Amino acid sequence: MKVGKQFNMLTYGEYLHLIENHKKFTDFNTLGLFRSIVETTKLSLEEKLELRKVAVAAFAKTFDFLQLKDPKTYIEVSTLGETLTKADESQAWDDIRQNQQRILESKRLSHRNFGTYSKHDCGYDTCHLNGVMIRQGSRLAWSGEMGFHSDNRHSWYKGLKAERHKRDRKSEQQIMAQRILEE
Ligand SMILES: [Zn+2]
Repeated sequence: MKVGKQFNMLTYGEYLHLIENHKKFTDFNTLGLFRSIVETTKLSLEEKLELRKVAVAAFAKTFDFLQLKDPKTYIEVSTLGETLTKADESQAWDDIRQNQQRILESKRLSHRNFGTYSKHDCGYDTCHLNGVMIRQGSRLAWSGEMGFHSDNRHSWYKGLKAERHKRDRKSEQQIMAQRILEE
């Protein structure tokens, strides 16, 4: 049996039915379910919060693992309806970092042999993603995270680096030219 509908088109009752009978649906996708709870506009916040409770209870392990697989969705689901300050946000990412280590250790997966994940290291010291394990190709991976940083600090940083690089090269050329003239 197929769900046959986008998750975010479901009513509250349909969601409950689907979660309860998820084993019967061949195309049921837990990550899609959690994402849709954040994204759907068909439910009230109250319904979303209630649904989150049901979904987390039904898929506790999958939800926990989401911290590694899709930390952004994990945070969005966890903080549904809340307004996060910058401090809240960096606290949330601190928690993710710790929980990722716990998950990796409990699975006996070290950073080394867990090849499809790597630590976020964009070079920007205050980036709240620093040290977060990011799956390659995920929305948070280096190439894909531009849209996630609301203040575009990464493109700013990259631009700065490129500028500096160009400047260094230029002054190198000038020094060379100077030397040639002096010889
Ligand atoms: Zn970063």
